[in-house]
Amino acid sequence: MEQLSHDYSFQSEPRRDGILESASKRVRMIFSVMASPNRIDILRILNSKGPLTYSELKSLAGFKSKKESGKFAYHLRKLLRQSLVALNKAERRYTITNLGKLVLSLARQIEERSIIESGKMYVRTTRHSIEEFNSHKIIQSLVREANMPLEQAHKITEEVENKVYKFHSTYLTSSLIRETVNSVLIEHGHEEYRNKLARLGLPTSDIFEMLNNIDKVGNGIDSVMTKAAQSMLAEHLITNTLPKDIADMHLAGEINISNSGIWGLVPDTVFVNIAHLAESGIDLRGKFLNVSRLSSINNVGELATALPILVSLLSRESSTEIVLDGIIPLLNRIADSREVITSFTRALMGSSVAPIYSSNSMFGLPITTIALDIVDQSNSKLINAILDSYNNYLNFTSVPRIGIALKFGNNDNLRDYSAKVAAIIRTGGLVSIVKNGSRSLNGIHKLISNKVSSGTVATLQSLSINLPRLAYQSNRDETYFRARLALMLKPALTAMSIRKKTLTDLIRKGMLPMLSSSTQFTQLGTSNIVINLTGAKESVHNILGHDINNGGIEILQKVLKTAVDVATDQGRQMGEDHVGIAMIYDDSAGRFASLDSDKYGKISLVSSEQGNLAYSQGLTINGRELIFPDDSKSHSIVDKCNSIDKLLNGGLAVNLDVNDLSSDIEMKNAIESVSDLQFFRPVIKHMICSNCGKRLGKEVTGRCEFCTSPYLLPLSI
Ligand SMILES: [Zn+2]
Repeated sequence: MEQLSHDYSFQSEPRRDGILESASKRVRMIFSVMASPNRIDILRILNSKGPLTYSELKSLAGFKSKKESGKFAYHLRKLLRQSLVALNKAERRYTITNLGKLVLSLARQIEERSIIESGKMYVRTTRHSIEEFNSHKIIQSLVREANMPLEQAHKITEEVENKVYKFHSTYLTSSLIRETVNSVLIEHGHEEYRNKLARLGLPTSDIFEMLNNIDKVGNGIDSVMTKAAQSMLAEHLITNTLPKDIADMHLAGEINISNSGIWGLVPDTVFVNIAHLAESGIDLRGKFLNVSRLSSINNVGELATALPILVSLLSRESSTEIVLDGIIPLLNRIADSREVITSFTRALMGSSVAPIYSSNSMFGLPITTIALDIVDQSNSKLINAILDSYNNYLNFTSVPRIGIALKFGNNDNLRDYSAKVAAIIRTGGLVSIVKNGSRSLNGIHKLISNKVSSGTVATLQSLSINLPRLAYQSNRDETYFRARLALMLKPALTAMSIRKKTLTDLIRKGMLPMLSSSTQFTQLGTSNIVINLTGAKESVHNILGHDINNGGIEILQKVLKTAVDVATDQGRQMGEDHVGIAMIYDDSAGRFASLDSDKYGKISLVSSEQGNLAYSQGLTINGRELIFPDDSKSHSIVDKCNSIDKLLNGGLAVNLDVNDLSSDIEMKNAIESVSDLQFFRPVIKHMICSNCGKRLGKEVTGRCEFCTSPYLLPLSI
């Protein structure tokens, strides 16, 4: 045994030595081959170009002159001798061998490593620091941000590293590395991981464009900041928050999500009782530190200070409108009407500079509506004083951001103020007239069910359904159309329900300090979800082919009833008790119409001012038809509107178009003739001069009458 093993070891040793000796000799030879950059170059060329003839290789390797022929032959011979390059004798071409490839890859790795070792790879981070490139950070992001298994993260990172090393001369930033990681992820089919790692934001050119075209962004710095932030948040909503099918419905124009930048962050319309706020004061419990406490309001001077702060704070917490109830009880408590006019005008002026969310319009949403209950005649002095101060305020602003809602019980009440309302409308004011209950300037109901609430109510309404699209797809079949509408309501409500849950969570965490701290507003759970229907008129009349004066109105009623019933039913199944359907104004009308005209042609579309295509929203009554009615038309118009208003539990915006009326008397008469309407808003088109900011009293074409500028913008909210 001992002998055998001894023999074995005795015999094997010299042989192993021999192998080791020749292998290490080989390594030394190969390293000596690698010592010449010329030879590494030849390997690189053969590796990238494939088999080459002697002369091709010689010229590509840069040995062009005859003098250098000997040098080239010498290098090539060395490579052949170490079997790094082989000659295919039949084709007379040189190729790189596997060993050659290994040597080349080794050379590359050494080169890359030495770049890192020398500290040349620096990354500029978004945390405003320059750090040495560290692949471990990529692994960390893949695991932490995208939840990728560690082993897989290592593999991806290795590939990213190889790419990044080739960037050695570039200005490395963390965003460039992230882009590289994402492209590797996509190459491997890991779309979900890529979406989690994606960076949201604006392309550089968009920012330059925004800064170079400030006149197009409206309110200067306010608009720039809003636009920049909202484009990122909107992208986040569409790509990360909404279910994919619902996001696609929005992108395809079947539904429209308005205010997408803040859609998941704030409610749309907030009804607040200012008398309650004024009595109890506000304590934001350290959330909005620069105004964390506001004591109760006890005189007009305090109101003039407090109102702008309240409006400013509330404006941050709604996308579209704040409706302030209870101003008359408040003023009755603290002031007499003489004091009101000057102080209240100042308060309104101060309130007008609240933050603006809408970046795609110049109207400056959200707006604030001051609701005035005009039923009690003993308040008439005070109400007149408020209307006068509102009129004063209008002279100070080009684009009013404050409106008035007059709540009247019977027609006599309205008659007392209709002349003043006509004058305000002529000056460019925003006035809505509400018969019962509480409604926004856009006709949105404060309450959907009969539940009585004196406190704060938030409404979520920024989702519209494209009715003409459904009608186009229904082949003039009204039953099929209603079935499609019913199907569309489910994803719409799902989206809104998700939104409500997100918002409830954010409010609980204190992101909306005014709503969180309002004692009247305990939770968003009781708030309303409203789905808006856009283009009802076009779908029923133009596409389904029913004339409004000949059965069309019944079809519309049937459609709306279906929508309300289905929404109520589906809402209940989702645990949402306050679900409503509305026909109000938002920014979906233009978007739907232009998408549909691309798809179906422009034939059936109603064109609005400035040649912009837009579908109808809400209902519009022509003032001229009312004061010169043929066969008591006004009565039947009012009845039709009210029948639709009654159906739409979320709200209906009825616009009384008074553009064609030449005098305030005519306007006053028109307003009084529709006083049986549940809700309406007299509207007149105004133009704003974008140069001098003056409001032009009527729709004009051509030049500003004050400064002769041709840059006039239509103003309508
Ligand atoms: Zn002008």
